Amino acid sequence: MWATGGAIGLACLLAATEVFAQPAASSSGRTIENIIAEQAPAAPKSPAGPSVPVVLSARVGEQPDRTRFVIELSDPVPTRVFTLTNPDRIVIDMPEVLWRLQGPDRPSGTGAVRAYRYGLFRPGDSRFVIDLNKPATAAEPLILPPEKGFGYRIVLDLFPTTEAKFAAAAGWPADLRVKEAQAERVAAIPAPAAPAAGQPAPQQKARVVVIDAGHGGIDSGTTGVDGILEKNVVLDEAQRLKKALQKRGYVVHLTRDTDIYIPLRERVNIARGYQADLFISLHADSNPDPNVSGASVYTLSESGSDKEAAALARKENQSDVIAGVDLSGENSPVASILIDLAQRDTMNRSSHFAEDAVSQLSQATDILPREPHRAAAFVVLKAPDVPAVLIELGYLSNAHDCAQMGTAEWRDATAQAIAAAVERDFGPPAQPVPVASQTPE
Ligand code: ZN
Repeated sequence: MWATGGAIGLACLLAATEVFAQPAASSSGRTIENIIAEQAPAAPKSPAGPSVPVVLSARVGEQPDRTRFVIELSDPVPTRVFTLTNPDRIVIDMPEVLWRLQGPDRPSGTGAVRAYRYGLFRPGDSRFVIDLNKPATAAEPLILPPEKGFGYRIVLDLFPTTEAKFAAAAGWPADLRVKEAQAERVAAIPAPAAPAAGQPAPQQKARVVVIDAGHGGIDSGTTGVDGILEKNVVLDEAQRLKKALQKRGYVVHLTRDTDIYIPLRERVNIARGYQADLFISLHADSNPDPNVSGASVYTLSESGSDKEAAALARKENQSDVIAGVDLSGENSPVASILIDLAQRDTMNRSSHFAEDAVSQLSQATDILPREPHRAAAFVVLKAPDVPAVLIELGYLSNAHDCAQMGTAEWRDATAQAIAAAVERDFGPPAQPVPVASQTPE
């Protein structure tokens, strides 16, 4: 499966001094052993156990004829490198690793590398994505053994090429396409079986709410003025909202309960698989104007209520591109007329909940002063049969919003407000569902 072939065990000819002509300050004086020892307490948290390789640093070296990319690890790992277009990028896949980069080297932006990002892509698989400024071909990655206080290093050289050659070589490896398709089928959880004959039918089906913490893993979302990451804020908020809703007797599922990326259409499939009565996607916004602040609630619309909402939808829909997800299966022709009919009722219900959410949130936090309920074409809201809203909890680019979003009090208060909106919309459940019978925390 993994292209371990020539790369690993190849005692490489490159001199380590060439790779690390100027070792970064963060690595000086630290040996590989004590770096790993420092990280040891974090290791058992990983589902893959304590033997998971640790990524220690990443560097970009811009040279006249090439750009050299170096990832330093505690252990050698097999890698697979492929390229994708639109936007042009290089994807490095490896087994699950722990990311412990200290102040990673950032590219100047003027060479071949515009930016890069990394994270857990799905359980067992980690991914590193390099965004390119100009087309480049990647040479076969080399693995250097530990030396002079450095750990194992994956060395990837990028050479300039033409757009036509880049496009011709780009594309998804066939087995990965299959893997993504399988993951999607797994996400489409079968509907719960109807009660067997003879069993008393429940008075009323318990209401099911699916909460979606936006972004995750390789996709951090927006970064707050104090460095806080959207993916972490919304995961914590999702967990608080889950508890608040369970206390009120609803059945609650999360699309993710760890720092992992889930493709947008898979999030939609999870909601449909659980036959959710409501899907709530949680996000935090950012704006170039640091004065813009307040929460806002979005519903689905193809036309969009205004330019700002449309721009926000484009930004949130970029998640899959950021994580390097295969989008080639998108836009498959579907029975659009049927979906339109189902969607009309779904959209009415979504809007109804959005109004309740705005009204409840306004009692707990600041609300965007102008039109706090807007609509745009968010991919994650596109289930035809599940009412869905996307809540931007506030602006991480605003100092006041960012500071309050960092507190447990604010997160609890907004979680309670959203839960109150759910109750106002659905009414209390006919049969309270014991929390113990629901999915584990
Ligand atoms: Zn977001």
